[in-house]
Amino acid sequence: MLTGTPASEAAARTALSRARGSAAAADVAAPAPFSLVVDLAAEPIGPRWLRGAATLTILCAAALSAMPGIDPFQAALAHSIAPKQQFQMNAMLSGPPADAEAALASAPPVDPVEAAKPVVAATASAIRVQGGVTDGLYWSLRDAGVSPDVAAQYLKVLSTRIDVGGDVAPFDRFDLVMAKADGQPLLYAALRRVDAPDVELLKWTVGGKADWFDTDASGAERTDGLMAPVAGRITSGFGRRNHPILHFARMHAGIDFGAAWGSPIVAAADGQVVGAGWAGGYGRQVRVAHGSGIVTSYSHMSGIVAAPGEPVRQGQVLGYVGSSGLSTGPHLHFEVRVNGQAVDPQSVQMQRRQQISGAQRQAFNARLKQLKAIGA
Ligand SMILES: [Zn+2]
Repeated sequence: MLTGTPASEAAARTALSRARGSAAAADVAAPAPFSLVVDLAAEPIGPRWLRGAATLTILCAAALSAMPGIDPFQAALAHSIAPKQQFQMNAMLSGPPADAEAALASAPPVDPVEAAKPVVAATASAIRVQGGVTDGLYWSLRDAGVSPDVAAQYLKVLSTRIDVGGDVAPFDRFDLVMAKADGQPLLYAALRRVDAPDVELLKWTVGGKADWFDTDASGAERTDGLMAPVAGRITSGFGRRNHPILHFARMHAGIDFGAAWGSPIVAAADGQVVGAGWAGGYGRQVRVAHGSGIVTSYSHMSGIVAAPGEPVRQGQVLGYVGSSGLSTGPHLHFEVRVNGQAVDPQSVQMQRRQQISGAQRQAFNARLKQLKAIGA
């Protein structure tokens, strides 16, 4: 049994607590110094292999220097060490394996301080700021010298696509361009994410109105407000009417779109599918929650392609026009509820799907390229 003197044990524990944080070290039930090192060797180091290896090397040196006269390799063999721990210990002593180095070359920057360092570049008319997310997105922006106003603009723009509170992780990188003008209006906002798709948005003016458009290959689509869920004519509006089958006046809680059987029905806005299946008189129905208590529903479908829990983007196909449930012919019954209360979908800003195409699209791409060239 390997034991250290109280003094050597204290030295190793100090080194351990520096590397792991004091809370974890306090939980270790005072084993011999060398066991501490082996225990550390089992820490997941994965793509951050070099940092883990460097930590282990320092700790090993500290532990061994605190135990004069003990041959470390003999001591290790004398102990019973789980195979995985022993492997990692060997890896540490002999340097990182070749494939670990290759993985590291394509991995995100390892040093969080280096990764978070903001990069600021400017032209005569615009300023670009890039940096890593460390202590939350807002404070990372502020630390990079971004004003509270611009940080708020950036978060507001991003919040139309992701949950800026929950969908941001350490090692993600923000990238924004603001104009050198009064109020520093934001021109470009992006978040490059380690574990999720990037978000990249460019401000663009269509029909005299500035809006934020996704820059990805799926096409620049506006996602403010609601989009018409199907290509069709409104055949029945919201409100009280005589029901054609039930023959009594009743509230029509949505609007009907006349459309050909099998026409694709798309999500009116970004959201999450909260229901997909048979719903009595509504027939085959999909319900999508959009946050702020707003739920849209799409009824009488002939087929459903959305699944409960699935996140959907505006314009994503949810199903196809049919006549299932209480229906006289193929149409889409579309409802919007706010906190459970049906509202007139037409009172909620309905916008036609807008795409930037042709010459506009070329100008859009040129603008994007120009802004991303700042400081590149
Ligand atoms: Zn209807």
